Amino acid sequence: MESSNNKKKITIAIDGFSSCGKSTFAREIAARLGYIFIDTGAMYRAVTLYALDHGAITSGILDHDKLISLLDEIRIAFRFNPERGASDIYVNGERVEGRIRTIEVSNCVSAVSSIAEVRTKLVALQQEMGRDKGIVMDGRDIGTVVFPDAELKIFMTADPAVRARRRYDELRAKGEEVSLAEIEANIRNRDLADQNRAISPLRRADDAITLDNSHMSVEEQMEWFMQQFARVTC
Ligand code: C5P
Repeated sequence: MESSNNKKKITIAIDGFSSCGKSTFAREIAARLGYIFIDTGAMYRAVTLYALDHGAITSGILDHDKLISLLDEIRIAFRFNPERGASDIYVNGERVEGRIRTIEVSNCVSAVSSIAEVRTKLVALQQEMGRDKGIVMDGRDIGTVVFPDAELKIFMTADPAVRARRRYDELRAKGEEVSLAEIEANIRNRDLADQNRAISPLRRADDAITLDNSHMSVEEQMEWFMQQFARVTC
């Protein structure tokens, strides 16, 4: 994609807790800079959905060996959807953008993302996508593992109650029957699991700048971001 920005392209790594608005923030940055946006959480969700659809997770229990045996057949791709103005995720040619956001997938994704073989496969794919820079990638290990040399690293956080309310409003707007308590429990459990897993746990890279957006509008976050961007690209 041609960059609307004449400056040298950089890599922007965004990590942080669940439901902080990382993807909204990253997507908006990419649109303003003419960069590619990759939501790596969607990739872990897509593998989780595949595991659910193919019998590697039953009644919430993950069959580790079965999932590993399926990994080679899972092909993940992003394709731009002009109607949404964003990329949709596909697994083996099937568009799964809507199906990866359900509470069922959210409840199983931390177990799937803690498996070394899953991470090795997805990290390699992410590094390939970012080879030419001009990319904004969000996730949990982007600044620490995927792109440790990224020129700009942002660590996002927000009050768990604010995050739960945002996710609840989003799911209800899509017609999903969920309770606020269920969402808050899921967010807290995922934060705990993501921070305490053995491989690539969620942590702030030493050279990342923290953004707490609990009480910030998207526009305020963009103003803050453009100052940080100017600082590293000038
Ligand atoms: O960002 P999102 O909440 O959609 O991510 C879903 C899950 O995928 C996270 O809770 C985490 O377990 C996993 N994930 C990860 N590493 C990433 C991105 C997401 O482990 N880079």
